[in-house]
Amino acid sequence: MDYQKLAELLFPHITETPADIEAKYPPRNLPEGAKVTRFAPSPTGFVHFGGLFPSTVAERLAHQSKGVFYLRIEDTDAKREVEGAAQGLIKTLATYGINFDEGAVLDENGNITDKGAYGPYKQSMRGPIYQTYAKQLVLEGKAYPCFTTEEELDELHQINKKEAIKNTDWQAEAEARRAETLARRNFTLEDVEEHIKAGHPFVLRILANGDPEKKTKFTDLVRGALEIPENDEDFVLLKSDGIPTYHFAHAVDDHLMGTTHVIRGEEWLPSLAKHIQLFSYLGFKLPKYMHISQIMRLDENGNKKKLSKRDMGANMDDYTGMGYSPEAVCEYVMTLLNSNYEEWHAKNADKPYTDFPFNIKKMSVSGCLFDFNKLGDVSKNIISRMSADTVYEKLVAWAEQFDSDFAVQLKADSDYTKKILAIGRGGKKPRKDLATWVDAKPYMGFFYDPYYTMVDGYPAGFENADIVATLEKFLETYDASDAMNVWFDKIKAIAETLGYASDMKAYKANPSAFKGNVADISSFIRVAVTGKQNAPDLYTVMQILGEERTRARIAAQIAELK
Ligand code: GLU
Repeated sequence: MDYQKLAELLFPHITETPADIEAKYPPRNLPEGAKVTRFAPSPTGFVHFGGLFPSTVAERLAHQSKGVFYLRIEDTDAKREVEGAAQGLIKTLATYGINFDEGAVLDENGNITDKGAYGPYKQSMRGPIYQTYAKQLVLEGKAYPCFTTEEELDELHQINKKEAIKNTDWQAEAEARRAETLARRNFTLEDVEEHIKAGHPFVLRILANGDPEKKTKFTDLVRGALEIPENDEDFVLLKSDGIPTYHFAHAVDDHLMGTTHVIRGEEWLPSLAKHIQLFSYLGFKLPKYMHISQIMRLDENGNKKKLSKRDMGANMDDYTGMGYSPEAVCEYVMTLLNSNYEEWHAKNADKPYTDFPFNIKKMSVSGCLFDFNKLGDVSKNIISRMSADTVYEKLVAWAEQFDSDFAVQLKADSDYTKKILAIGRGGKKPRKDLATWVDAKPYMGFFYDPYYTMVDGYPAGFENADIVATLEKFLETYDASDAMNVWFDKIKAIAETLGYASDMKAYKANPSAFKGNVADISSFIRVAVTGKQNAPDLYTVMQILGEERTRARIAAQIAELK
């Protein structure tokens, strides 16, 4: 076969050579050991929690090593492309601290544009580049056209598959596949000329020389040593529109853009043999690979399931509405990614996660388990360590977007709100009331008159008369300027008058001698003032509410209970 002629027939419009292209993508000038990584999403929808994983790893590895992290938009499948998805991806990723040094970025009008010298970063803009390499492969007898239409191919594939399933004769299937491949390879230049003249479309296939009986040794950065059977499948490199398949685009782009580490989902592991072959055919150095496991969740029966698109927590755009701050989500991702993160964090509580020395060796091979409870714990810790001012700012920003009524209340008297948010903050063991901003209203809403309602009711098992008497007596002696101990002595005194133990030890020694204890008395007052049985320290609550509001609430409760 005259490959030169074949190449010209197939790619008459390609005049550049790979060498011409290589010259436009010189090696990057980076310090020793710097890693070049990328995130390469297909713009088919939102960022999935499972996508935040590889992108976080890629971002950390690049930036920790003073390398480059770039974004490539893999839009080779126009049918699956969703309008605006690429813009959405960039915005969402930025929210989670995934910032790209290079690649597809947004301009001031929110449109996608290229930043960096290794573009275009949108695969649909790179047609001629792929075709140049495709032409070279044809020239070298490593790729060939296939004029069978896509429908015909699909049909053939289905028939073969059905036959194989019916017979479950894998040997026969392999033989049928082989025969199919050989038939495809069997064409003449004249055949091609005729097809081209008639304007028939073609796909370009690799001429696979692998022997699946033979295995290539390969080391995945998380999975360790693997043995990959060689590829013998003449897979498609270019589709009939001249647009590459993932495999071909991956090889050409990651080579030209200088990627040193490919971090991607484990669903690509079965294609690795193809990629190894392709890099070798093209004379490219194989990058290092890390295949990241899918994120799992537990279903109602406690079985592990893949976290699918529709599951709660899958769409990264939902977290803001659910009231999680990006810091919490990022930290949670770190705890899942590196087993020693939590230990480090406990010792370095005030440092951002970006200071953590992320280590590939500490990544787990099996899929991580997504768990809202764990995310909630991480988030509680983070919020508990924020200053009241920070919480104020973030909570108000959230409320303005998702609960405007609450935002109005929060902002009406910012000093008042900040005092509330300062409760239990700053010490060694800060209170952990909020996992999300959604939790804020149920936690502190009672401080605002419009939200103050009887949530819990009074503790059961006590006489109404005792509750009323407690509240009345409290009002008789209450003085907002009392110090905490004086205030509490007054409550103890009420306990004693009503036959409740003022001393917990005495109560525990002989509970039947009392109607209850001072904690019950406090509880009556707490419920009257807050509407809840669980609330922050009652003295502090009253100090913030102020004498007038405290008295008004208690008085209203007395009236209601009578
Ligand atoms: N576009 C591919 C995907 O979304 C990228 C895989 C890769 O990172 O190489 O799965």
